[in-house]
Amino acid sequence: MTAVLVTGAAGNVAGMLRPGLDGLDLRAVDTRDVTGWPGADVRVGDLADPAFTAAAVEGMDAVVHLAANPSPGASWPQLRGPNADAVVTLLDAAWRAGVRRVVLASSVHAMGGYVAAGLPGGVLVDPAWPVRPCCTYGASKAFAEAYARTVADGGGPSVLCLRLGGVLPLPLDTGNLLAWLSPGDLRLLVRSALAADVRYGCYFGVSANTRGVFSYANAAAELGYRPESDAETYAASVAPGDGGFCRWRDEEAPTA
Ligand SMILES: [Zn+2]
Repeated sequence: MTAVLVTGAAGNVAGMLRPGLDGLDLRAVDTRDVTGWPGADVRVGDLADPAFTAAAVEGMDAVVHLAANPSPGASWPQLRGPNADAVVTLLDAAWRAGVRRVVLASSVHAMGGYVAAGLPGGVLVDPAWPVRPCCTYGASKAFAEAYARTVADGGGPSVLCLRLGGVLPLPLDTGNLLAWLSPGDLRLLVRSALAADVRYGCYFGVSANTRGVFSYANAAAELGYRPESDAETYAASVAPGDGGFCRWRDEEAPTA
């Protein structure tokens, strides 16, 4: 049985992913107590602690790294530890331990600048375009993707970066129609990423949304990802909103 470490296991995304990991030998870690992972080897600790992280990856075939500060409004002092330092600590530990595959949660915010700048109608953001973060949080995810490439190219674990959209049970507002990832499609995508024959890649984690702005064509071609959900199904019942997308406004300077 494949042994998989899931970080950030107490978080919302992990909770939605968990039913998709049946049949795997699971270890679940978080800084908070982890519930809802029956049968998993649960450990509470901080990935910024190299000793904790080394023990967490020991014996694992793969890692699904979800732990992060997930707030697009977070400042760099808030992001630096969980979104930069912990990524380096984890990937280095995984490399030393002989882990073969890391699935790294990135974010559409690493490419959100294309949306904030205003895409021409009908154009989808291509995952191969240069990173264009819309916020410091997005830039922290771009760093994680870049360090993952260093590790993958250097002979460490292969790393697949999933730029997750809005992972929600249902779309909440009109902005979610652009980049919703349903729990079911999250499970399909992560399982595809764990199994794919790829050394390094970045893929948008979005459902097959009629109004989607991020292309999942490479996930379909390279991972065999076949999303089954479309936020449009719920379009009549959502409220107006920005879907968590960042906007660039002259009056809003970046926070330190
Ligand atoms: Zn952003």
